[in-house]
Order: sequence, then structure tokens, then C-alpha cells
Amino acid sequence: VNSGSLGLPPRVKLVLLGDSGVGKSCLALRFTRGIFDAGSRATVGAAFSSATVTVPGSTASCKLEIWDTAGQERYQSLAPLYYRGAHAAAIVYDVTERRTFAKAQHWLEELRHYAGLTMVLMLVGNKTDLMPQRQVAEEEGRNLADSIGAMFVETSAATGINVAEVFEGVASRLAGGMP
Ligand code: GDP
Ligand code: MG
Repeated sequence: VNSGSLGLPPRVKLVLLGDSGVGKSCLALRFTRGIFDAGSRATVGAAFSSATVTVPGSTASCKLEIWDTAGQERYQSLAPLYYRGAHAAAIVYDVTERRTFAKAQHWLEELRHYAGLTMVLMLVGNKTDLMPQRQVAEEEGRNLADSIGAMFVETSAATGINVAEVFEGVASRLAGGMP
């Protein structure tokens, strides 16, 4: 793996944040292994996975190390170790559960407390395949992302739509691009 860019570290630590059940583990599994397990009820397998990511439109690449919680998000707070040294965070909510969108703000505040403001942030509204049950409009997500200086994308781990954009967007921003 060659970063091919001054701004992009060869190894990038990305932490997944968001309420239990929003689809963090499914997003990681979809991206790293290309699969979706509809039967999964809790975090499946290792809470750590990695993949090589190439910045779209360039030859720059990095090894993206994805930190997923093994259920600790049910507690009030995650261990500082989880955040330590992270280059980026993806804050995930479920577009069919407004409660999880409100909670995204909580996760952001915790992130600021532990990790400061230098991290690349990506807000992710997941489960767009469940259109009839949608409770959070795309515009609301975009507005929150704008207010916190984060990138934004709506995804479905079930169909795979926009999932690569989450991880490629982070790499692109770290490489100095403007996705
Ligand atoms: P986590 O607790 O945030 O890691 O959430 P999981 O990845 O374990 O997913 C929680 C539940 O939501 C599981 O039953 C998944 O099958 C389901 N799920 C995750 N992503 C999607 C999605 O994009 N669409 C649909 N319909 N279900 C999803
Ligand atoms: Mg999980």
C-alpha cells in the first residue's frame, strides 16, 4: 500500500459511532466483504476489520482500519482507547428511527471531548431501502452535517448503495480532496 499523497497516512483509523442497531456492523461488513446478513441481530464476528481504499480519481490509497464496537455503544460512553489516534469517525443513524438521529449529536459531543476537532467526520443516514418507514428527511441530515463540518451520505447496507462513498469520502478528505 502506497499512500501516493502527502496528506493521506498509509494506515487510517476510522471509528464507527452511533446507536446500537443503526447498522454500523452491517456497513463495515458490506464494505470490507461485500455481503449483507439480514439475520444478524448484534455485532457479528470481529469488531475490527480493514480494507485497502483508493481515493476516487487518483492513485492514492491507504489501509483503512475500521473500529466497530462490540456492543459497548449500549453504555453511556465508549472507552477513550476506542478514539485514541483516530483520523476519522463515521457517525451513523437510522433514517427510520428519529431517536437515533437525535443521538448522533450526543456521539459528536463525546467525540469532541475525547478526540478534539481535528478528525475527519462523516455523518451517515443508513437504511434508505426502508423508504415507507423514513422518519428523517435527507435535508435534515445534510443540515446537521453542515452545522458540524462533516461530510454526509445516505446509505443502505442492505442494497449496498453509497456504502463505498462513506469510506472513500473519508480517504478523499484526508488526502486533501473535496468530495
Ligand atoms: P449496529 O448495532 O449499529 O452494529 O447494527 P447492525 O449492523 O448489527 O444492524 C442492526 C440491524 O439492522 C440488523 O438486523 C441488520 O440486518 C439491520 N440493518 C442494518 N443495515 C440495514 C440496512 O441498510 N437496511 C435494512 N433494511 N436493515 C439494515
Ligand atoms: Mg454492531
